[in-house]
Amino acid sequence: MTEEFDAIVVGSGPNGLAGAVTLARAGLHVRVYERASLVGGGASTTELTLPGFLHDVCSAVHPMAFESRFFREFQLGARVDFVVPEVSYAHPLDGGRAGLAYLDLARTVESLGRDGAAYDLLMRPLAEHASRVAEFTGSTLLRVPRHPVTVLNFGLRAIAQGGPWWNAPFHEQTAPAMITGVAAHTILHQPSLAAAGAGLALAAYGHARGWPIPRGGSQAIVDAMVDDLVAHGGEVATDHEVTSLDELPTSRVVLLDVTPDAFVRLAGDRMPQSYRAKMERFRYGGGVAKVDFALSEPVPWTHPEVRRAGTVHVGGTRAEIAEAENDVSRGRLHDRPYVLAAQPSLFDAGRAPEGAHTLWTYTHVPAGSDADRADAVIAQIERFAPGFRDTILATSSRTAVDVASYNPNYPGGDISAGAPTFDQLVRRPVLSPDPWHTPVPGVYLCSASVSPGPGVTGLVGWRAALSALRHDFGARAEPSLAPF
Ligand SMILES: Cc1cc2nc3c(=O)[nH]c(=O)nc-3n(C[C@H](O)[C@H](O)[C@H](O)COP(=O)(O)OP(=O)(O)OC[C@H]3O[C@@H](n4cnc5c(N)ncnc54)[C@H](O)[C@@H]3O)c2cc1C
Repeated sequence: MTEEFDAIVVGSGPNGLAGAVTLARAGLHVRVYERASLVGGGASTTELTLPGFLHDVCSAVHPMAFESRFFREFQLGARVDFVVPEVSYAHPLDGGRAGLAYLDLARTVESLGRDGAAYDLLMRPLAEHASRVAEFTGSTLLRVPRHPVTVLNFGLRAIAQGGPWWNAPFHEQTAPAMITGVAAHTILHQPSLAAAGAGLALAAYGHARGWPIPRGGSQAIVDAMVDDLVAHGGEVATDHEVTSLDELPTSRVVLLDVTPDAFVRLAGDRMPQSYRAKMERFRYGGGVAKVDFALSEPVPWTHPEVRRAGTVHVGGTRAEIAEAENDVSRGRLHDRPYVLAAQPSLFDAGRAPEGAHTLWTYTHVPAGSDADRADAVIAQIERFAPGFRDTILATSSRTAVDVASYNPNYPGGDISAGAPTFDQLVRRPVLSPDPWHTPVPGVYLCSASVSPGPGVTGLVGWRAALSALRHDFGARAEPSLAPF
Protein backbone atom coordinates (compact mmCIF):
# COMPACT_ATOMS: atom_id res chain seq x y z
CA MET A 1 0.00 0.00 0.00
CA THR A 2 1.30 3.49 -0.78
CA GLU A 3 0.99 5.90 2.13
CA GLU A 4 -0.56 9.30 1.57
CA PHE A 5 2.11 10.88 3.80
CA ASP A 6 5.45 9.77 5.20
CA ALA A 7 4.59 11.32 8.55
CA ILE A 8 1.60 12.80 10.35
CA VAL A 9 2.03 15.04 13.39
CA VAL A 10 -0.93 15.64 15.70
CA GLY A 11 -0.57 19.01 17.48
CA SER A 12 1.30 22.13 16.35
CA GLY A 13 2.89 23.14 19.66
CA PRO A 14 6.62 23.88 19.61
CA ASN A 15 7.32 20.16 20.05
CA GLY A 16 4.96 19.02 17.31
CA LEU A 17 6.45 21.58 14.94
CA ALA A 18 10.04 20.69 15.90
CA GLY A 19 9.23 17.07 15.08
CA ALA A 20 7.57 18.06 11.81
CA VAL A 21 10.49 20.28 10.75
CA THR A 22 13.04 17.56 11.55
CA LEU A 23 11.14 14.95 9.53
CA ALA A 24 10.60 17.35 6.61
CA ARG A 25 14.30 18.18 6.66
CA ALA A 26 14.99 14.44 6.29
CA GLY A 27 13.08 14.63 2.99
CA LEU A 28 9.77 13.24 4.25
CA HIS A 29 6.31 14.44 3.25
CA VAL A 30 4.75 15.70 6.51
CA ARG A 31 1.28 16.90 7.47
CA VAL A 32 0.46 18.51 10.85
CA TYR A 33 -3.07 18.53 12.30
CA GLU A 34 -3.97 21.22 14.83
CA ARG A 35 -7.34 21.45 16.61
CA ALA A 36 -7.07 25.21 17.19
CA SER A 37 -7.42 27.92 14.54
CA LEU A 38 -4.02 29.34 15.47
CA VAL A 39 -0.82 27.28 15.16
CA GLY A 40 1.65 27.18 18.01
CA GLY A 41 -0.05 25.62 21.05
CA GLY A 42 1.71 27.15 24.09
CA ALA A 43 3.59 29.66 21.95
CA SER A 44 0.87 31.77 20.37
CA THR A 45 0.28 35.51 20.52
CA THR A 46 -2.96 37.41 20.02
CA GLU A 47 -5.03 40.42 21.15
CA LEU A 48 -6.56 39.25 24.43
CA THR A 49 -7.63 42.60 25.84
CA LEU A 50 -7.93 45.64 23.55
CA PRO A 51 -7.18 46.23 19.86
CA GLY A 52 -3.47 46.89 19.34
CA PHE A 53 -2.37 45.06 22.53
CA LEU A 54 -0.55 41.82 21.63
CA HIS A 55 -0.52 39.24 24.43
CA ASP A 56 1.24 35.90 24.66
CA VAL A 57 -1.57 33.44 25.34
CA CYS A 58 0.80 31.03 27.15
CA SER A 59 4.62 31.28 27.09
CA ALA A 60 6.25 34.71 26.99
CA VAL A 61 9.92 34.43 27.99
CA HIS A 62 12.33 31.92 26.46
CA PRO A 63 15.34 30.90 28.56
CA MET A 64 15.81 27.89 26.24
CA ALA A 65 15.74 29.85 22.97
CA PHE A 66 19.54 29.95 22.91
CA GLU A 67 20.26 26.86 25.04
CA SER A 68 18.06 24.16 23.46
CA ARG A 69 20.06 21.89 21.16
CA PHE A 70 17.14 21.86 18.71
CA PHE A 71 16.92 25.66 18.54
CA ARG A 72 20.69 25.90 18.13
CA GLU A 73 20.67 23.47 15.20
CA PHE A 74 17.65 25.34 13.78
CA GLN A 75 19.52 28.64 14.34
CA LEU A 76 16.48 30.21 15.89
CA GLY A 77 18.46 33.33 16.78
CA ALA A 78 19.10 33.98 13.07
CA ARG A 79 15.41 33.61 12.19
CA VAL A 80 13.68 35.46 15.05
CA ASP A 81 14.64 38.82 16.49
CA PHE A 82 15.15 38.40 20.24
CA VAL A 83 15.61 41.10 22.86
CA VAL A 84 17.67 40.09 25.90
CA PRO A 85 16.82 42.23 28.94
CA GLU A 86 19.73 43.43 31.05
CA VAL A 87 17.96 41.98 34.11
CA SER A 88 16.80 38.41 33.44
CA TYR A 89 14.43 38.46 36.40
CA ALA A 90 13.66 40.74 39.31
CA HIS A 91 12.26 39.87 42.71
CA PRO A 92 10.64 42.79 44.58
CA LEU A 93 10.48 42.65 48.37
CA ASP A 94 8.67 44.80 50.92
CA GLY A 95 10.22 48.14 51.84
CA GLY A 96 11.21 49.00 48.27
CA ARG A 97 13.94 46.34 48.13
CA ALA A 98 14.45 44.00 45.17
CA GLY A 99 16.67 41.14 44.07
CA LEU A 100 18.00 41.70 40.55
CA ALA A 101 19.35 38.81 38.49
CA TYR A 102 21.46 40.73 36.01
CA LEU A 103 22.69 38.90 32.96
CA ASP A 104 26.07 39.85 34.39
CA LEU A 105 26.65 37.46 37.30
CA ALA A 106 29.38 39.63 38.88
CA ARG A 107 27.00 42.60 39.04
CA THR A 108 24.35 40.40 40.65
CA VAL A 109 26.84 39.10 43.23
CA GLU A 110 27.89 42.65 44.05
CA SER A 111 24.27 43.73 44.53
CA LEU A 112 23.66 40.95 47.06
CA GLY A 113 26.02 42.31 49.74
CA ARG A 114 26.70 39.77 52.49
CA ASP A 115 25.08 36.95 50.51
CA GLY A 116 26.96 37.73 47.30
CA ALA A 117 29.69 35.15 47.93
CA ALA A 118 27.18 32.36 48.67
CA TYR A 119 25.21 33.23 45.53
CA ASP A 120 28.43 33.26 43.50
CA LEU A 121 29.42 29.83 44.84
CA LEU A 122 25.99 28.47 43.97
CA MET A 123 25.65 29.97 40.51
CA ARG A 124 29.08 30.48 38.94
CA PRO A 125 29.96 26.83 38.10
CA LEU A 126 26.51 26.45 36.50
CA ALA A 127 26.39 29.80 34.70
CA GLU A 128 29.89 29.31 33.28
CA HIS A 129 28.82 25.92 31.90
CA ALA A 130 25.18 26.69 31.18
CA SER A 131 25.29 24.87 27.84
CA ARG A 132 26.50 21.72 29.60
CA VAL A 133 23.69 22.04 32.14
CA ALA A 134 21.25 22.41 29.22
CA GLU A 135 22.80 19.42 27.48
CA PHE A 136 22.30 17.29 30.62
CA THR A 137 18.73 18.39 31.29
CA GLY A 138 17.84 18.33 27.57
CA SER A 139 17.44 14.59 27.14
CA THR A 140 16.49 11.60 29.28
CA LEU A 141 18.33 11.43 32.58
CA LEU A 142 19.02 7.73 31.87
CA ARG A 143 22.41 8.04 30.25
CA VAL A 144 26.06 8.55 31.10
CA PRO A 145 26.61 12.33 31.29
CA ARG A 146 29.10 13.82 28.84
CA HIS A 147 30.23 16.42 31.36
CA PRO A 148 30.31 14.62 34.73
CA VAL A 149 31.92 17.49 36.66
CA THR A 150 29.20 19.93 35.62
CA VAL A 151 26.54 17.33 36.39
CA LEU A 152 28.09 16.73 39.83
CA ASN A 153 28.18 20.48 40.51
CA PHE A 154 24.58 20.75 39.38
CA GLY A 155 23.41 17.77 41.45
CA LEU A 156 25.15 18.91 44.64
CA ARG A 157 23.68 22.39 44.32
CA ALA A 158 20.19 21.02 43.64
CA ILE A 159 20.49 18.92 46.81
CA ALA A 160 21.71 21.98 48.74
CA GLN A 161 18.74 24.08 47.62
CA GLY A 162 16.21 21.23 47.53
CA GLY A 163 15.89 20.32 51.22
CA PRO A 164 15.12 21.86 54.61
CA TRP A 165 18.77 23.04 54.92
CA TRP A 166 18.30 25.43 51.96
CA ASN A 167 18.78 28.62 54.02
CA ALA A 168 22.12 27.51 55.50
CA PRO A 169 24.39 29.48 53.12
CA PHE A 170 22.46 32.76 53.44
CA HIS A 171 22.15 35.57 56.00
CA GLU A 172 19.57 37.83 54.35
CA GLN A 173 16.26 37.51 52.50
CA THR A 174 17.06 38.61 48.96
CA ALA A 175 19.24 35.82 47.53
CA PRO A 176 17.09 32.94 48.86
CA ALA A 177 13.93 34.70 47.63
CA MET A 178 15.47 35.01 44.16
CA ILE A 179 16.33 31.30 44.03
CA THR A 180 12.88 30.24 45.20
CA GLY A 181 11.24 32.67 42.77
CA VAL A 182 12.77 30.70 39.90
CA ALA A 183 12.31 27.24 41.47
CA ALA A 184 8.60 28.02 41.92
CA HIS A 185 8.12 27.98 38.12
CA THR A 186 7.75 24.20 38.55
CA ILE A 187 4.50 24.36 40.62
CA LEU A 188 6.07 21.83 42.99
CA HIS A 189 6.41 21.54 46.75
CA GLN A 190 9.07 23.91 48.16
CA PRO A 191 11.77 22.93 48.87
CA SER A 192 12.16 19.86 46.67
CA LEU A 193 14.94 18.40 44.58
CA ALA A 194 13.17 18.74 41.22
CA ALA A 195 12.10 22.34 41.89
CA ALA A 196 15.63 23.29 42.96
CA GLY A 197 17.20 21.57 39.94
CA ALA A 198 14.88 23.27 37.46
CA GLY A 199 15.28 26.61 39.23
CA LEU A 200 19.07 26.47 39.26
CA ALA A 201 19.20 25.51 35.58
CA LEU A 202 16.91 28.42 34.64
CA ALA A 203 18.85 30.82 36.86
CA ALA A 204 22.12 29.68 35.26
CA TYR A 205 20.72 30.45 31.78
CA GLY A 206 19.71 33.87 33.14
CA HIS A 207 23.38 34.59 33.90
CA ALA A 208 24.70 33.02 30.69
CA ARG A 209 22.75 34.16 27.61
CA GLY A 210 19.81 35.66 29.45
CA TRP A 211 16.07 35.13 29.25
CA PRO A 212 15.20 36.35 25.74
CA ILE A 213 11.91 37.79 24.56
CA PRO A 214 10.97 37.43 20.87
CA ARG A 215 10.01 40.62 19.07
CA GLY A 216 6.37 40.25 18.07
CA GLY A 217 5.65 37.64 20.75
CA SER A 218 6.13 33.88 21.12
CA GLN A 219 4.16 33.40 17.91
CA ALA A 220 7.32 34.52 16.05
CA ILE A 221 9.07 31.31 17.19
CA VAL A 222 6.41 28.92 15.91
CA ASP A 223 5.89 30.98 12.76
CA ALA A 224 9.60 30.48 11.97
CA MET A 225 9.11 26.72 12.38
CA VAL A 226 6.00 26.69 10.17
CA ASP A 227 7.86 28.71 7.49
CA ASP A 228 10.68 26.15 7.48
CA LEU A 229 8.24 23.24 7.39
CA VAL A 230 6.32 24.67 4.46
CA ALA A 231 9.55 25.53 2.62
CA HIS A 232 10.43 21.83 2.87
CA GLY A 233 7.16 20.52 1.50
CA GLY A 234 5.23 20.16 4.77
CA GLU A 235 1.70 21.36 5.47
CA VAL A 236 -0.39 22.34 8.49
CA ALA A 237 -4.17 21.78 8.73
CA THR A 238 -5.70 23.94 11.48
CA ASP A 239 -9.21 23.61 12.99
CA HIS A 240 -8.78 19.84 12.77
CA GLU A 241 -9.07 17.87 15.99
CA VAL A 242 -7.91 14.26 15.77
CA THR A 243 -10.07 11.97 17.90
CA SER A 244 -8.67 8.56 16.90
CA LEU A 245 -5.56 7.24 15.18
CA ASP A 246 -7.92 5.32 12.90
CA GLU A 247 -9.19 8.50 11.25
CA LEU A 248 -5.72 9.65 10.08
CA PRO A 249 -4.61 9.32 6.45
CA THR A 250 -2.12 6.49 5.95
CA SER A 251 1.50 7.28 6.84
CA ARG A 252 4.69 5.47 7.86
CA VAL A 253 4.86 7.26 11.22
CA VAL A 254 2.69 9.38 13.49
CA LEU A 255 4.07 11.84 16.07
CA LEU A 256 1.65 12.81 18.83
CA ASP A 257 2.04 16.17 20.59
CA VAL A 258 -0.54 15.06 23.20
CA THR A 259 -0.59 13.92 26.85
CA PRO A 260 -0.46 10.23 27.88
CA ASP A 261 -4.19 10.41 28.76
CA ALA A 262 -5.03 11.64 25.27
CA PHE A 263 -2.75 9.02 23.73
CA VAL A 264 -4.78 6.28 25.47
CA ARG A 265 -7.97 7.68 23.95
CA LEU A 266 -6.48 8.15 20.46
CA ALA A 267 -4.91 4.67 20.32
CA GLY A 268 -7.88 2.69 21.70
CA ASP A 269 -7.30 -1.07 21.29
CA ARG A 270 -4.02 -0.57 19.47
CA MET A 271 -2.26 0.14 22.78
CA PRO A 272 -0.92 -2.87 24.72
CA GLN A 273 -2.49 -3.19 28.18
CA SER A 274 0.83 -2.97 30.06
CA TYR A 275 1.74 0.31 28.33
CA ARG A 276 -1.77 1.67 28.86
CA ALA A 277 -1.35 1.04 32.61
CA LYS A 278 1.85 3.14 32.56
CA MET A 279 0.10 5.96 30.68
CA GLU A 280 -2.74 5.89 33.21
CA ARG A 281 -0.26 6.08 36.11
CA PHE A 282 1.22 9.34 34.76
CA ARG A 283 0.34 12.19 37.15
CA TYR A 284 -0.60 15.78 36.32
CA GLY A 285 0.29 18.67 38.60
CA GLY A 286 -1.16 21.93 39.87
CA GLY A 287 -2.74 24.43 37.51
CA VAL A 288 -2.35 28.07 36.58
CA ALA A 289 -4.80 30.95 36.36
CA LYS A 290 -3.65 33.47 33.77
CA VAL A 291 -4.26 37.22 33.98
CA ASP A 292 -3.21 39.60 31.18
CA PHE A 293 -3.38 43.36 31.39
CA ALA A 294 -3.48 46.30 28.99
CA LEU A 295 -1.84 49.22 30.86
CA SER A 296 -1.74 52.95 30.29
CA GLU A 297 1.90 53.05 31.45
CA PRO A 298 4.61 50.69 32.76
CA VAL A 299 4.04 49.02 36.14
CA PRO A 300 5.08 51.59 38.81
CA TRP A 301 7.42 49.26 40.73
CA THR A 302 8.76 50.89 43.91
CA HIS A 303 12.27 49.69 43.10
CA PRO A 304 13.08 51.40 39.77
CA GLU A 305 15.44 48.66 38.52
CA VAL A 306 12.55 46.16 38.39
CA ARG A 307 11.52 47.97 35.23
CA ARG A 308 14.68 46.67 33.54
CA ALA A 309 13.61 43.05 34.03
CA GLY A 310 11.82 40.93 31.45
CA THR A 311 10.40 38.68 34.18
CA VAL A 312 9.33 39.57 37.71
CA HIS A 313 8.70 37.05 40.51
CA VAL A 314 6.08 38.51 42.82
CA GLY A 315 5.30 36.98 46.18
CA GLY A 316 7.77 38.25 48.76
CA THR A 317 10.27 36.25 50.74
CA ARG A 318 11.31 32.63 50.28
CA ALA A 319 9.16 31.61 53.26
CA GLU A 320 6.10 33.42 51.88
CA ILE A 321 6.46 31.87 48.42
CA ALA A 322 7.04 28.40 49.88
CA GLU A 323 3.92 28.76 52.03
CA ALA A 324 1.79 29.90 49.07
CA GLU A 325 3.12 27.16 46.77
CA ASN A 326 2.74 24.44 49.38
CA ASP A 327 -0.87 25.51 49.92
CA VAL A 328 -1.47 25.01 46.19
CA SER A 329 0.10 21.54 46.32
CA ARG A 330 -2.32 20.74 49.18
CA GLY A 331 -5.25 21.87 47.01
CA ARG A 332 -5.78 25.31 48.62
CA LEU A 333 -5.78 28.85 47.25
CA HIS A 334 -3.54 31.31 49.09
CA ASP A 335 -4.52 34.95 49.78
CA ARG A 336 -1.07 36.26 48.84
CA PRO A 337 -0.08 33.95 45.94
CA TYR A 338 3.16 33.66 44.02
CA VAL A 339 2.75 35.53 40.71
CA LEU A 340 4.95 35.21 37.65
CA ALA A 341 4.91 38.40 35.60
CA ALA A 342 6.51 39.41 32.29
CA GLN A 343 6.65 42.92 30.88
CA PRO A 344 7.45 42.37 27.17
CA SER A 345 6.28 45.75 25.90
CA LEU A 346 9.14 47.43 27.81
CA PHE A 347 11.51 45.67 25.39
CA ASP A 348 9.32 45.34 22.30
CA ALA A 349 7.36 48.54 21.66
CA GLY A 350 5.23 46.85 18.99
CA ARG A 351 3.25 44.94 21.63
CA ALA A 352 1.05 47.92 22.53
CA PRO A 353 -0.09 51.29 21.13
CA GLU A 354 2.36 54.14 21.69
CA GLY A 355 2.93 54.88 25.38
CA ALA A 356 0.80 51.95 26.52
CA HIS A 357 1.97 48.55 27.78
CA THR A 358 1.05 44.91 28.25
CA LEU A 359 1.63 42.86 31.39
CA TRP A 360 1.56 39.04 31.30
CA THR A 361 0.96 37.20 34.57
CA TYR A 362 -0.10 33.88 35.93
CA THR A 363 -0.44 32.39 39.36
CA HIS A 364 -0.61 28.81 40.60
CA VAL A 365 -3.89 27.22 41.70
CA PRO A 366 -5.00 23.69 42.54
CA ALA A 367 -5.63 21.51 39.48
CA GLY A 368 -9.03 22.13 37.93
CA SER A 369 -9.71 25.31 39.95
CA ASP A 370 -12.37 27.62 38.56
CA ALA A 371 -11.26 30.54 40.75
CA ASP A 372 -10.81 33.90 39.00
CA ARG A 373 -7.50 35.15 40.44
CA ALA A 374 -7.41 38.63 38.88
CA ASP A 375 -8.02 40.42 42.21
CA ALA A 376 -5.38 38.37 44.06
CA VAL A 377 -2.83 39.03 41.31
CA ILE A 378 -3.58 42.78 41.27
CA ALA A 379 -3.27 42.97 45.07
CA GLN A 380 0.12 41.22 45.06
CA ILE A 381 1.47 43.56 42.33
CA GLU A 382 0.07 46.62 44.17
CA ARG A 383 2.06 45.51 47.21
CA PHE A 384 5.32 46.14 45.32
CA ALA A 385 4.00 48.72 42.83
CA PRO A 386 1.48 51.04 44.53
CA GLY A 387 -0.75 52.69 41.93
CA PHE A 388 -0.65 49.68 39.60
CA ARG A 389 -4.44 49.35 39.77
CA ASP A 390 -4.84 52.85 38.29
CA THR A 391 -2.78 51.96 35.22
CA ILE A 392 -5.09 49.08 34.17
CA LEU A 393 -7.05 49.74 30.96
CA ALA A 394 -8.37 46.20 30.48
CA THR A 395 -7.93 42.72 31.94
CA SER A 396 -8.25 39.22 30.49
CA SER A 397 -8.59 36.64 33.26
CA ARG A 398 -8.61 32.89 32.63
CA THR A 399 -9.12 30.23 35.27
CA ALA A 400 -7.30 26.88 35.30
CA VAL A 401 -10.46 25.39 33.81
CA ASP A 402 -10.25 27.91 30.93
CA VAL A 403 -6.54 27.11 30.40
CA ALA A 404 -7.36 23.38 30.19
CA SER A 405 -10.20 23.87 27.74
CA TYR A 406 -8.02 26.15 25.59
CA ASN A 407 -5.47 23.36 25.20
CA PRO A 408 -6.00 19.70 26.21
CA ASN A 409 -2.24 19.38 26.81
CA TYR A 410 -2.78 21.34 30.06
CA PRO A 411 -5.11 19.02 32.03
CA GLY A 412 -6.61 20.85 34.99
CA GLY A 413 -4.50 23.86 33.97
CA ASP A 414 -1.18 21.98 34.40
CA ILE A 415 1.05 23.89 31.97
CA SER A 416 3.83 21.29 32.33
CA ALA A 417 1.62 18.54 30.80
CA GLY A 418 2.52 16.36 33.79
CA ALA A 419 4.02 17.17 37.19
CA PRO A 420 7.80 17.63 36.77
CA THR A 421 8.61 15.78 40.00
CA PHE A 422 11.95 13.98 40.24
CA ASP A 423 10.46 10.56 39.49
CA GLN A 424 8.47 11.94 36.55
CA LEU A 425 11.61 13.54 35.12
CA VAL A 426 13.42 10.20 35.19
CA ARG A 427 10.34 8.22 34.09
CA ARG A 428 8.68 10.62 31.63
CA PRO A 429 6.29 9.05 30.82
CA VAL A 430 8.09 5.66 30.96
CA LEU A 431 11.49 4.51 32.21
CA SER A 432 13.35 4.13 28.91
CA PRO A 433 16.39 5.58 27.12
CA ASP A 434 14.01 6.14 24.17
CA PRO A 435 10.72 7.22 25.80
CA TRP A 436 9.46 8.83 22.56
CA HIS A 437 9.16 5.42 20.87
CA THR A 438 5.90 3.72 21.87
CA PRO A 439 4.82 0.07 21.47
CA VAL A 440 2.07 1.15 19.04
CA PRO A 441 3.78 0.47 15.68
CA GLY A 442 4.96 3.67 13.97
CA VAL A 443 3.63 5.94 16.74
CA TYR A 444 5.85 8.34 18.72
CA LEU A 445 4.94 10.59 21.61
CA CYS A 446 6.41 14.09 21.35
CA SER A 447 4.69 16.39 23.88
CA ALA A 448 6.06 18.02 27.03
CA SER A 449 4.73 14.94 28.89
CA VAL A 450 7.84 13.16 27.57
CA SER A 451 11.54 13.70 28.40
CA PRO A 452 13.04 16.19 28.68
CA GLY A 453 9.74 17.83 29.67
CA PRO A 454 8.09 21.25 29.66
CA GLY A 455 9.11 24.59 28.18
CA VAL A 456 9.41 25.99 24.69
CA THR A 457 12.47 23.97 23.70
CA GLY A 458 11.42 21.89 20.68
CA LEU A 459 13.58 19.17 22.24
CA VAL A 460 10.88 16.54 22.72
CA GLY A 461 9.67 16.85 19.13
CA TRP A 462 13.21 16.80 17.78
CA ARG A 463 14.17 13.71 19.79
CA ALA A 464 10.92 11.93 18.86
CA ALA A 465 11.56 12.66 15.16
CA LEU A 466 15.15 11.38 15.42
CA SER A 467 13.82 8.23 17.10
CA ALA A 468 11.27 7.77 14.26
CA LEU A 469 13.96 8.34 11.61
CA ARG A 470 16.13 5.65 13.26
CA HIS A 471 13.44 3.04 13.86
CA ASP A 472 11.15 3.43 10.85
CA PHE A 473 13.41 4.90 8.16
CA GLY A 474 16.77 3.36 9.11
CA ALA A 475 18.38 6.83 9.18
CA ARG A 476 21.48 7.18 11.33
CA ALA A 477 22.46 10.79 10.59
CA GLU A 478 20.60 13.79 12.02
CA PRO A 479 19.18 16.01 9.24
CA SER A 480 20.58 19.53 9.04
CA LEU A 481 18.15 22.13 10.38
CA ALA A 482 20.17 25.18 9.40
CA PRO A 483 18.35 27.88 7.42
CA PHE A 484 18.92 27.99 3.69
C1 LIG B 1 0.16 30.12 30.72
C2 LIG B 1 1.44 29.46 30.28
C3 LIG B 1 2.64 30.11 30.41
C4 LIG B 1 3.83 29.50 30.00
N1 LIG B 1 5.00 30.21 30.06
C5 LIG B 1 6.13 29.68 29.52
C6 LIG B 1 7.28 30.50 29.33
O1 LIG B 1 7.25 31.71 29.59
N2 LIG B 1 8.39 29.92 28.79
C7 LIG B 1 8.40 28.60 28.40
O2 LIG B 1 9.44 28.12 27.90
N3 LIG B 1 7.31 27.81 28.55
C8 LIG B 1 6.17 28.32 29.07
N4 LIG B 1 5.03 27.58 29.14
C9 LIG B 1 5.09 26.14 28.80
C10 LIG B 1 5.15 25.91 27.31
O3 LIG B 1 4.19 26.71 26.64
C11 LIG B 1 4.88 24.44 27.03
O4 LIG B 1 5.76 23.63 27.80
C12 LIG B 1 5.13 24.14 25.55
O5 LIG B 1 4.26 24.90 24.74
C13 LIG B 1 4.94 22.66 25.30
O6 LIG B 1 4.98 22.42 23.92
P1 LIG B 1 4.22 21.19 23.27
O7 LIG B 1 4.45 21.26 21.82
O8 LIG B 1 4.62 19.95 24.01
O9 LIG B 1 2.67 21.39 23.63
P2 LIG B 1 1.69 22.59 23.37
O10 LIG B 1 2.44 23.84 23.12
O11 LIG B 1 0.73 22.57 24.49
O12 LIG B 1 0.96 22.21 22.03
C14 LIG B 1 0.12 21.10 21.88
C15 LIG B 1 -0.74 21.37 20.65
O13 LIG B 1 -1.41 20.18 20.27
C16 LIG B 1 -2.76 20.50 19.93
N5 LIG B 1 -3.54 19.27 20.10
C17 LIG B 1 -3.66 18.55 21.23
N6 LIG B 1 -4.46 17.50 21.02
C18 LIG B 1 -4.83 17.55 19.72
C19 LIG B 1 -5.65 16.72 18.91
N7 LIG B 1 -6.22 15.62 19.38
N8 LIG B 1 -5.83 17.06 17.61
C20 LIG B 1 -5.23 18.17 17.10
N9 LIG B 1 -4.45 19.00 17.84
C21 LIG B 1 -4.24 18.69 19.13
C22 LIG B 1 -3.11 21.60 20.90
O14 LIG B 1 -4.22 22.36 20.45
C23 LIG B 1 -1.82 22.41 20.92
O15 LIG B 1 -1.79 23.38 19.90
C24 LIG B 1 3.81 28.17 29.49
C25 LIG B 1 2.59 27.52 29.32
C26 LIG B 1 1.40 28.16 29.68
C27 LIG B 1 0.08 27.50 29.43
